[in-house]
Amino acid sequence: MNFDTRSIHAGRKPDPITGAISTSICQTSTFAFEDYNQPGDYDYSRTGNPTRNALEEAIANLEGGNKGFAFSSGMAAVSTAIHLLKAGDHAIVGDDIYGGTHRLFNEIMTKYGIEFTFLRMDSREKIEDAIQPNTKMLWIETPSNPLLNITDLEMIGNVAHENKLLTVADNTFPSPYFLRPIEYGMDLVLHSTTKYINGHSDVIGGAIVTTTDELADDVHFLLNGMGSNAAPFDSWLILRGLKTLPLRMKKHAENAMIIAEFLYEHPKVSEVFYPGLPTHPGYEIAKKQMDGFGGVVSFKLKSDVAKFIRGLDLFCLAESLGGADSLVEHAATMSHASMNESARVKAGITDDVIRLSIGLEDSSDLIEDLAHGLDAS
Ligand SMILES: *Cc1c(COP(=O)(O)O)cnc(C)c1O
Repeated sequence: MNFDTRSIHAGRKPDPITGAISTSICQTSTFAFEDYNQPGDYDYSRTGNPTRNALEEAIANLEGGNKGFAFSSGMAAVSTAIHLLKAGDHAIVGDDIYGGTHRLFNEIMTKYGIEFTFLRMDSREKIEDAIQPNTKMLWIETPSNPLLNITDLEMIGNVAHENKLLTVADNTFPSPYFLRPIEYGMDLVLHSTTKYINGHSDVIGGAIVTTTDELADDVHFLLNGMGSNAAPFDSWLILRGLKTLPLRMKKHAENAMIIAEFLYEHPKVSEVFYPGLPTHPGYEIAKKQMDGFGGVVSFKLKSDVAKFIRGLDLFCLAESLGGADSLVEHAATMSHASMNESARVKAGITDDVIRLSIGLEDSSDLIEDLAHGLDAS
């Protein structure tokens, strides 16, 4: 079945007892055993829960993986995935990844003996040069946050295959509607479901999709062992959001393209980062591997950042992205404040970078608001 249909039906069917169309929220911590030493399908909600499992099956289906796992946050999913490594292992990671992922790897996981090299993932040679005898993992985000750099997944898949490296793609920005990294040989796909998958700025969640039974067993072992699982009610909200993912992604991308073109022409804007603009360095690769360019637009402002932000009315000053409401944020002091300054500047996230999460409002209202802000700046 096609993606739009699977967004609504994968992992879900009417309740066998009541016929309810909406997946039931199975709000229980524990489940009765059938007999001595005989658990039923479920025994304890950390290990497995029917509402969470419906979400897990739906996301795995949309990403084209074998199994899905739902977590209490995107960072819980990232934490779980990085625990696939052990002390002494080395991972090569994109240098402009999500700030929280950078902080977890650089400031927390290094304390447990895992080594990281942060690198712009734009050339095969650079990646091959960074591979050490103990390198086990390549971690990528495409488009990246907040500069929307594009990584060639086919190239990553080839390097990883030749060097027997595990690949993790954080697919939060494009969502499976626009990109399915497993089609390019990635082993694990990860999400902050807080963003587009849920889409309504009302829940924190994460997901991992695996490609082999062995990886699925390892991820489930870690989820259960670390207790990083999603709650039933959150899973239900995300399942509800998922039904409109295709409709929302189409509109996010349509609005984002209009706004990127508006900003590109504006005299107070020195650079626009949107992979749908033919001037973007990753445009050709993005066009090849993605079905659309997503809903995040970043840009560099020549004039006063604070005045621009204060001049906006519709765009709300807030972290996060991927919801129906348009948001604006200043990367250096907000989403990427958790990245140390030298790493931030090295990744090109300078103080003039503004990130917009383009929502589902009418694009002419959004443009009018941005024009106001730019005039005020
Ligand atoms: C937000 C985000 C995360 C972290 O997810 P939370 O749900 O906030 O814990 C990880 N990766 C990317 C790309 C994100 O945008």
